[in-house]
Amino acid sequence: MSDCLFCRIAKKEIPDKVVFDDAKMLAFEDIRPQAPVHVLIIPKAHFASLNEAPEGAETLLGEMLFRAREIARERGIGASGYRVVLNTARDSGQEVLHIHFHLLGGRRMTWPPG
Ligand code: AMP
Ligand code: ZN
Repeated sequence: MSDCLFCRIAKKEIPDKVVFDDAKMLAFEDIRPQAPVHVLIIPKAHFASLNEAPEGAETLLGEMLFRAREIARERGIGASGYRVVLNTARDSGQEVLHIHFHLLGGRRMTWPPG
């Protein structure tokens, strides 16, 4: 998916503030942060959303979730709390069609979300 923004970020074709990088995933700062901590966690493999996640991606998705937890700890918001968001398809507001978790924290969140 050479025209996919997050594939290009994963391949380092577009510079971004990388938070974590390994063979399977990348975490980087959101360009328009909605909270003091706003990090995106993506798989290096392209799939558009949770709806398109292939068989066998369960482990990868679990590892991404645990990575979000680890980054939250590193940023000092593990105990105070944080939100992990996985927008999926139109009604969620998903804009970038390469699956990504948002890690948001450092301020008090409201519920329900907008
Ligand atoms: P979503 O609405 O769930 O698809 O979220 C897409 C997120 O990607 C938004 O929070 C954007 O601010 C963020 N975003 C878009 N372009 C970039 C970029 N070049 N670098 C980092 N984050 C980006
Ligand atoms: Zn992609």
